Amino acid sequence: SVESKICILGGPGVGKSALVVRFLTKRFIWEYDPTLDDESVVMEILDTAGQEWSIHREGHVRWADGFVLVYAINDRHSFEEVSSIKQCLDEVKKTNVQCVLVGNKIDLLHEVNVPTSEGERLASDWACAFFETSASDGGEDISELFHELHREIRRR
Ligand code: GDP
Ligand code: MG
Repeated sequence: SVESKICILGGPGVGKSALVVRFLTKRFIWEYDPTLDDESVVMEILDTAGQEWSIHREGHVRWADGFVLVYAINDRHSFEEVSSIKQCLDEVKKTNVQCVLVGNKIDLLHEVNVPTSEGERLASDWACAFFETSASDGGEDISELFHELHREIRRR
């Protein structure tokens, strides 16, 4: 089997846990995902919370092969937070870390504070994939962002 260790990071309340739960629930229902190559895949996913993150930061960063960096599209501060988190990751790993950027809560259309174009620009600066998701509506994109990161990790 092919393993990847994925750590999910972002400010409080952006929907990190909700995204992980969505992804795992879908996998249980579908069991087999034709978009992944025909081999067994093990993804270890570490869901972090604020307090724990600040204490175990270096350990988490060294453990992980790649990162899901999440902000909420209705929370500009959370968008600024992912930038400082990314900077910190690169410093600890001493390289441009593998990640995907995720703007969550796109169901809150009337509350958009971070337009799609800004997320796209940041992801382009980092040379990483960008997704906009809704953990409450679900959808393909949530599985796809984990699969994309997994593929990227394998490629390296
Ligand atoms: P975490 O602190 O990043 O793990 O965030 P949680 O997963 O605990 O979510 C924080 C709050 O945002 C909860 O009340 C969730 O129900 C809500 N939430 C998470 N994702 C979404 C989303 O995509 N859309 C909306 N409207 N609410 C969301
Ligand atoms: Mg959480």
